[in-house]
Amino acid sequence: VSGPELFRVEEKDAREALPVRRADSHKGTYGHVLVVAGSPGKTGAAAMVALAALRSGAGLVTVATRAEALPAVMAHAPEIMGLALPGDGPLGKGDLEALKAALEGKDALVMGPGIPRGPETGALIGDLLAAVDVPAVLDADALNAVAEDLSVLRRAKGPVVLTPHPGEMARLTGKPTKEVQLHRVGMARQLAAALHVTVVLKGSRTLIAEAGGRVFINPTGNPGMATGGTGDVLSGVCGALLAQALPLPQAAWTAVYAHGLAGDLAAERRGLMGLIATDLLKGLGSVWVRWG
Ligand code: AMP
Ligand code: MG
Repeated sequence: VSGPELFRVEEKDAREALPVRRADSHKGTYGHVLVVAGSPGKTGAAAMVALAALRSGAGLVTVATRAEALPAVMAHAPEIMGLALPGDGPLGKGDLEALKAALEGKDALVMGPGIPRGPETGALIGDLLAAVDVPAVLDADALNAVAEDLSVLRRAKGPVVLTPHPGEMARLTGKPTKEVQLHRVGMARQLAAALHVTVVLKGSRTLIAEAGGRVFINPTGNPGMATGGTGDVLSGVCGALLAQALPLPQAAWTAVYAHGLAGDLAAERRGLMGLIATDLLKGLGSVWVRWG
């Protein structure tokens, strides 16, 4: 599929804006990502977002999660910093002040994978995005939360990218997944324009739709990536690129292309059947070497 306003992402486009590692730089140069993710039983989701952000050049990564989930998240890697969100249960309005404080001095927010979601989670996300001017990636249960009232996204101060898989896109649009898959370009374009956000509609040939109407189609990736956690890795890559000041939609297409290529390189070693999400972290290294 091609045509006016529909573009294929080429490798040269994806590497074009790659952050340069200057000799006189320091970790502050490359941004600090706040990851709001994880809950008991889903601590790996938070760890994969954080590790993907670290493996994609972020200077610092902090995971904010409930105290009961934090030790398991942090045990995955000593490079991950942690912040316990006081209270328990689903994320709601009571978490607003702690999250606002956590976002001070941060350069990007990634929110959603494995979060405890409840009736107030969508409103919390709206209030948070209205209060801070930080680029944000919303994924997984952050998407399911805002799907209940999409108008909360219109109050966002900073740029926002949504990264739904087709099931999440169905919830966001109120349409069956089948219809989403039949009209991927139109649905992504419409949602991006309606909410003034960037929409990354995942799956085979992931689409990146910008608010202005252009849609980009990604050629990398493979069905070996249809396995738990690969989406969490994508949100971490995207958050790291935003923290390194790549603008949208460029940060999104760069992340999507690199993530898919990481999957293609990892599949050469693991096979489509054997590929798991953490293999993508090693694949990312090969992508950055190739583009270095
Ligand atoms: P999630 O469902 O949130 O874990 O995200 C899955 C990730 O794997 C997304 O980046 C998808 O684009 C990718 N993925 C899943 N299935 C395929 C497929 N058949 N071909 C290419 N990429 C895929
Ligand atoms: Mg996901």
